[in-house]
Amino acid sequence: MRLSRFFLPILRDDPKEAEIVSHRLMLRAGMIRQSSAGIYSWLPLGYRVLRKIEQIVREEQDRAGALELLMPTIQSADLWRESGRYDDYGKEMLRIEDRHERDMLYGPTNEELITAIFRDGVKSYKDLPRILYHIQWKFRDEIRPRFGVMRGREFLMKDSYSFDLTQDDARKSYNRMFVAYLRTFARMGLKSIPMAAETGPIGGDLSHEFIILADTGESEVYCHKDYLAMEPPGEDLDYDSDLGPLVRAWTGQYAATSEMHDAARFEADVSEADRVTARGIEVGHIFFFGTKYSEPMGAKVQGPDGELIPVEMGSYGIGVSRLVGAIIEASHDEAGIVWPPSVAPFDIGLINLKAGDADTDAACETFYTELQKAGFDVLYDDRDDRAGTKFAAMDLIGLPWQVIVGPKSLKAGEVELKERATGARHSLTFDSALTKLT
Ligand code: ATP
Ligand code: MG
Ligand code: MG
Ligand code: MG
Repeated sequence: MRLSRFFLPILRDDPKEAEIVSHRLMLRAGMIRQSSAGIYSWLPLGYRVLRKIEQIVREEQDRAGALELLMPTIQSADLWRESGRYDDYGKEMLRIEDRHERDMLYGPTNEELITAIFRDGVKSYKDLPRILYHIQWKFRDEIRPRFGVMRGREFLMKDSYSFDLTQDDARKSYNRMFVAYLRTFARMGLKSIPMAAETGPIGGDLSHEFIILADTGESEVYCHKDYLAMEPPGEDLDYDSDLGPLVRAWTGQYAATSEMHDAARFEADVSEADRVTARGIEVGHIFFFGTKYSEPMGAKVQGPDGELIPVEMGSYGIGVSRLVGAIIEASHDEAGIVWPPSVAPFDIGLINLKAGDADTDAACETFYTELQKAGFDVLYDDRDDRAGTKFAAMDLIGLPWQVIVGPKSLKAGEVELKERATGARHSLTFDSALTKLT
């Protein structure tokens, strides 16, 4: 992509409305624009990142055996009357009336809709287990939308739903999602900690929030410091094997959000030197809720003896759009964003320090082609602008690598390769730069 043809409305000054660094940087880097409170347009640079995150989430869901579908954003109120939640949900639900005066709503979540789909499609225990998911926009009329995409009103969520015959089986589905979440967040360069979360009326231990530590997080969290050093499972993990030991290893030490925090237990179980008290961002939440929806909505399957059994269900959310902000909170410096390579909007920024100079232009064109041929997504700054402006823009948008090309270094047969994360710069031939990048 040539920057001269791209849409990158960078802001020079800090926008006043942004209270936290990720919101500030997303606005400055031309990633998003607010259209009304808590509702954003995703501009090309931001949308690229959103799609990369979405794709990682999708790959890890698929790997864990979940099946993707797509449900609509607008739902019928009648469905929510079946579960009894239409009246309970309160003001966070955006209620809409269509031209026939039918009550509709913009979905804040999809338990009812997926239960109805399942109910109509599955009749026998032989078709279990199943995990279905979609990645779709949600609307919650948050009382205080803030921090940009971190607490929006319209936001992109991945939500999965598991269906099992027994609670024992449901725990296996839960474990699949638990492990998939560890891998998902790690692939985005994040250290996520599964923390015990509120389970609601059913009780039990099957509810975890996946938390990223960050000073600007809205939750107060408490955990053992060992979690910070734990390595997530690798790609070779067999999801059909017993995941129990892995999940137990990740839940063996104390980790709780403020709602579940037990100060006495924290102090008894964790030595003072190992206690971490911090703030955190909820990027995911997994939850077993048994027959809460299947019972009232009649989602039953025929069991081995012919009797009708309501399915045991769980739901598993990931804040896909919130993650864009969370990753920036975890990875930035004075100059701007520092994207982990897996979610970066482009792999490399190619900077032409003297656009208009025939030799420099020609060299840059060659490098641009070569880098793309090697499989990189390149943003080529071919604009006629000051070097300082170009450096600042490239640092702000945080691509992992910069290839800097000017007449002086070209005369020496070299380019400059800069690694955004460390700031390390190397002068070397283009071929050596290419070798270093691949
Ligand atoms: P929170 O406690 O932050 O309000 P929640 O517990 O209400 O979140 P869930 O119902 O568990 O959210 O939804 C699953 C995921 O969706 C959350 O873990 C979070 O990452 C994301 N999410 C929830 N609300 C928002 C929002 N207003 N803006 C962006 N992402 C959100
Ligand atoms: Mg909420
Ligand atoms: Mg929450
Ligand atoms: Mg939650």
